[in-house]
Amino acid sequence: MTEMISNVNDLGNVLIRSDLNVPIINGNITDDYRIYKSMEILDKIMDNSKTITFSSHLGRPKKKGLDFTLEPVAKRMSEILNKKVNFIDELYGKKVKESLQSADYKINLIENLRFDEGEVNNSDEFAKNVTNPFDSYIFDAFGASHRNHSSVVSFGKYLNSYQGPLMGKEIEQLDKLLSNEKNGYVVLLGGAKISDKLNLIENLLPKVEHLLIGGGMCFTFYKSMGYEIGKSLLEDSFISEANKLLNSEHGHKIILPTDFGVTELIESQSREDLNIEHFNNKHIGIDIGPNTVSLFSDYLLSSKNIFWNGPMGIFEIDNFSKGTREITRIIAKSSAYTCIGGGDSVSAVNKFSNLKYFNHISTGGGASLEYLEGKKLPGVNIYNSLII
Ligand code: AMP
Repeated sequence: MTEMISNVNDLGNVLIRSDLNVPIINGNITDDYRIYKSMEILDKIMDNSKTITFSSHLGRPKKKGLDFTLEPVAKRMSEILNKKVNFIDELYGKKVKESLQSADYKINLIENLRFDEGEVNNSDEFAKNVTNPFDSYIFDAFGASHRNHSSVVSFGKYLNSYQGPLMGKEIEQLDKLLSNEKNGYVVLLGGAKISDKLNLIENLLPKVEHLLIGGGMCFTFYKSMGYEIGKSLLEDSFISEANKLLNSEHGHKIILPTDFGVTELIESQSREDLNIEHFNNKHIGIDIGPNTVSLFSDYLLSSKNIFWNGPMGIFEIDNFSKGTREITRIIAKSSAYTCIGGGDSVSAVNKFSNLKYFNHISTGGGASLEYLEGKKLPGVNIYNSLII
């Protein structure tokens, strides 16, 4: 279903599903990469549509609340576009209809889709309600394309629907990495949790040259080998799974850090670098150490393709950010095809290097990883591409 169509002369009132799920701390957006990328579609459709209404999820709200409102995103969109973006604090109903009829507003943003449980439950009723006042639908939220949610798989049933340009770009770039598989690629994973990534590690292992694992999740692996890890991050219920992976057919491809930045109290922000063998029961591993940076560097620089997702330590704290900073710079300098998968890794690149030194910065963290696993994602290639 990826046949190209052209000459979409009149999209009418367009609803776009973007991924505007950005980090917001105390009402401030700390990384707006996804907003920038989501706005690129406007150049293409501005003259072909009557009104343009963006929609997105934000975080994982348990109920409607200020913490998860998209209002700050509408404000940021207005600043980026230098045009008023009208924020509608509803998902469907009177206010949405009135905004579409108002001559004052060309660009709108509706509230967080996850404020209605119909989104996550993939409700058809919800899809009908939201899509009701619109003429066409563009799905451009790569970062949500691995979810079986209403806006991903059901909204499109009720309108003329298209796959947006950002989706197309993401798929094209990740396909480059997959088709380069014969030249080999290295995946570098970091972040806090192993539980999110166990399946992924299992599925990726046969495909990659090496899988380098930093961040908090490597301590569950070390624990599974009987090491003292002190008070470092540990997911008890995954110890045996971690051990199984290390001893699996491709387990030798897992490369773990050999030394770490450690502290006894995160708040003190003090640090010393130690080999894993020297941990005592008070130590907390908060970053990879200098020997690991050179070890990882050797693997990264000898590969033709690199995919990176997740920080190497608590990079938000200056004294714990060294490993992530150095790894960012090493990948930036490499002549390999380099692809960064979403979220915190994009923030790290923004903080320690420059996005321009990387071949592809994906807007989707989880989605890009699942795509690399070779999974068919619910939201990928289900509509014709929009070509204007
Ligand atoms: P994730 O959402 O799983 O990608 O995790 C990202 C978070 O992992 C960041 O906020 C980091 O501060 C955190 N992180 C990375 N390494 C560690 C570590 N060694 N200990 C605690 N947190 C970590």
